[in-house]
Amino acid sequence: MNEKIWLSSPHMGESEFKNVKEAFETNWIAPLGPHVDGFERDLATYLGEGMHVAALSSGTAALHLALIILGVQAGDEVICQSMTFSASANPIAYQGATPVFVDSEEETWNMSPELLEVAIQDRIAKGKKPKAIIVVHLYGMPAQMDRIMAVADKYEIPVVEDAAEALGSSYKGQKLGTFGVLSILSFNGNKIITTSGGGALVSKNEEWIRKSRFLATQARDAAPHYQHSHIGYNYRMSNVCAGIGRGQMEVLDQRVEKRRSNYTFYKEAFADIDAIKFVEEPGAYFYSNRWLSTVLVEGDVTREDIRLHLEKDNIETRPLWKPMHLQPVFAEAPFYGDGTSERLFEQGLCLPSGSNLADADLDRVVAQLKQLYQEAKV
Ligand SMILES: *Cc1c(COP(=O)(O)O)cnc(C)c1O
Repeated sequence: MNEKIWLSSPHMGESEFKNVKEAFETNWIAPLGPHVDGFERDLATYLGEGMHVAALSSGTAALHLALIILGVQAGDEVICQSMTFSASANPIAYQGATPVFVDSEEETWNMSPELLEVAIQDRIAKGKKPKAIIVVHLYGMPAQMDRIMAVADKYEIPVVEDAAEALGSSYKGQKLGTFGVLSILSFNGNKIITTSGGGALVSKNEEWIRKSRFLATQARDAAPHYQHSHIGYNYRMSNVCAGIGRGQMEVLDQRVEKRRSNYTFYKEAFADIDAIKFVEEPGAYFYSNRWLSTVLVEGDVTREDIRLHLEKDNIETRPLWKPMHLQPVFAEAPFYGDGTSERLFEQGLCLPSGSNLADADLDRVVAQLKQLYQEAKV
């Protein structure tokens, strides 16, 4: 059996292990410590725009705290991009609120600004104004932020930006993760940089970030004994993980460069196969970190044929994320759509995209895929 080629695996640099060792040597093994403070500073500096950052145990935890800070409660409605990973929507349910799903547009595969407005108008007509809008930058591609923000501003609904897949991407030169009133990042093992598991909540509003740190450490009031006047959570990032994160920040730009070069490599390698389509950045001001290289598969060979063929050679690929409105768990949730995300899910495939892929790995993916199309011709 050939060696496994993963979809997206962790890729450590030079400093991560040194930082973890330092955490051990200084006995900062707790969910606080100098690496946590340092990682928050590194992220805030990287993002710019006067952002404040709380390092947390996961991106999901960050999204949960974002909804709590915005006052989302049982019975409320929250609009969410349908084409996303389930973690974008689950925190809505944690709060006892109802997700209202909105379809994607063709250019970026992210939330359609038109359908967003249709959804808002209809929810208001039905008696409930949505409490928040969760917009996602899927696979690192920026959503149509100007148009999304214009709709959100018109109806005065706060935008929470799910930038879990999009650290290093930008829109009009501004880093993703700085557009929402609150934004979230993920450092899960498969993301562009990882802390093994972790996330962050980001905002210009320093008071909110302070509050999120308070809620994330069990909401302990200032008292010598354990005193609580709020429900708390155990969502803080450990100092060991933050040490990994600080090392990863040193190589983030290189990771973006390599992921983008994977994408260009595939695009050139498959230029002669008409049935395989790539989705370009729709304008000069969309800059994707190309976290995952994705393709749409048209014609007789299906994306499932490709996936199974590559799997036989121990190469991992994955269909595009299955939209939330098609998920059994969200079957009852309202949905505003025009079939775009369903078609993308039918045709779309994520190719191996790690920043640690060797040229030989990429060649193997291309050779296997070309072989399948050769055989299909005969
Ligand atoms: C990974 C991911 C999350 C969740 O992040 P975790 O750190 O794994 O909890 C949320 N949204 C999207 C779009 C993601 O890809």
